[in-house]
Amino acid sequence: MIAPGDFKKNSDVVIDWIDHYLNHITEFPVKSQVMPGEVYRKIPERPPRDPESLERIMKDLHEVILPGITHWQHPNFHAYFPANNSVESIFAEFVTSAIGAQCMIWDTSPAAAELEERMMEWLRDAIHLPPGFDGVIQDSASSATLVALITAREVATGFRSNEEGVPGNLRVYCSGETHSSIEKGVGVCGIGKKNLVKVGVDEQLRMDPRLLEEQVMADIHKGFQPCAAVGTIGTTGTLAVDPIDAIGEICKKYHMWFHVDAAYAGTALLLPEYRWMIEGIEKVDSFVFNPHKWMFTNFDCSVYYVKNADLLISAFEVLPEYLKTKSRGSVNDYRDWGVPLGRRFRALKLWFVLRGFGISGIEERLRTHIGLNRYFSDEIRKIPGIILAMEPFLNFTIFRLHPSGVKDQELLNRLNEKLLEEINGRGKLFLTHTKIRGAYSLRMVIGQTYVEQRHIDLAINEISSAAENLAI
Ligand SMILES: *Cc1c(COP(=O)(O)O)cnc(C)c1O
Repeated sequence: MIAPGDFKKNSDVVIDWIDHYLNHITEFPVKSQVMPGEVYRKIPERPPRDPESLERIMKDLHEVILPGITHWQHPNFHAYFPANNSVESIFAEFVTSAIGAQCMIWDTSPAAAELEERMMEWLRDAIHLPPGFDGVIQDSASSATLVALITAREVATGFRSNEEGVPGNLRVYCSGETHSSIEKGVGVCGIGKKNLVKVGVDEQLRMDPRLLEEQVMADIHKGFQPCAAVGTIGTTGTLAVDPIDAIGEICKKYHMWFHVDAAYAGTALLLPEYRWMIEGIEKVDSFVFNPHKWMFTNFDCSVYYVKNADLLISAFEVLPEYLKTKSRGSVNDYRDWGVPLGRRFRALKLWFVLRGFGISGIEERLRTHIGLNRYFSDEIRKIPGIILAMEPFLNFTIFRLHPSGVKDQELLNRLNEKLLEEINGRGKLFLTHTKIRGAYSLRMVIGQTYVEQRHIDLAINEISSAAENLAI
């Protein structure tokens, strides 16, 4: 056990390791190459009886753990969506863990509650949500969406479902392109997955509001009660942006809760040129986006906004004797704004990042990523046989191999699957895929905090030579 008095003496071994890691990250294969069970077998069956030195632990970190790490901060991590960090957010996590506060209510650390309140205002105004919205930090967009669905369920049942259970006739609507967390949330909150209606999409894979209204009317006719609709700004597959204004109009007409999932693309609202994405935001009841994806704040930090915080609190408030305090009512007790009682001090890393970067610094990074994506998509389409599957958007390009003359989709899909395997197997890049109307396509996201043009040039070369290797 290291005493606090020996903190500084021992810190070098950790700080030096982190410093080395951050500055040599490109030397590792982006995606971990270990086989299933490989790390597990290297970890002893039992904990040590006697204390081990920090040096030994750090040595095993390097030798046992690191090979099993997929390097999310590697500049050539282009898979999924990023979960990027920054030096500022790493420092903030140091401080957060040193303070080690459990921030369930205002009394358990007033600064945590009040910094959170202020950070939510800073971000709300920076992304141009209306001033009436109140925000709270959740661990993930999945949790935020669950919170939205539970609130919607309570509102739809006149605040009886927490008490009496959920009636079987509530319905939730989203497009077939929405994130799996919606389906999970509808199941977990008791509405039932069979009551989740997937509405059709247009050419650009955006929810078609006409089909939404038809579906809602048909359901009412059959005795269902429309409860909520979920719109997405930036779907996971293709970054489609649902028409918020039109969906909001329908939600108002049929008294449905309107939740918007902007988990990834929400960060782009910091840029004035992307604010068209939230046209109609005044018709939205709740909104989530993840600073832990593209806003340089390490996982986890998801921000959830509601138009009427009283409805949220009514759905989640519990008040056992030991949590009754004098300050209640005059301050925010955030344990009433979500599922868990205990809460981390996540506002601190937002504070470090927003101040350390400044809004202009974040804008600069986002525009750099978007510019690199433009460059990437221009270059990649020049490679023989490669086509763009959709118009590039933000820092995101979807492409696939489609040699001229090949028509069979099964064959094309297998070819693209092989291309992805070839690219990822080389260890220099990590990409993932999606299917667009059945066509296997490769997704390229350029969102690592410190990514530069040379990393994108490397990616273009790797993809080009992998495509050549498939010898089409
Ligand atoms: C990533 C993502 C989510 C899930 O986010 P978590 O914070 O991991 O729960 C939900 N919706 C969309 C559109 C996403 O891109």
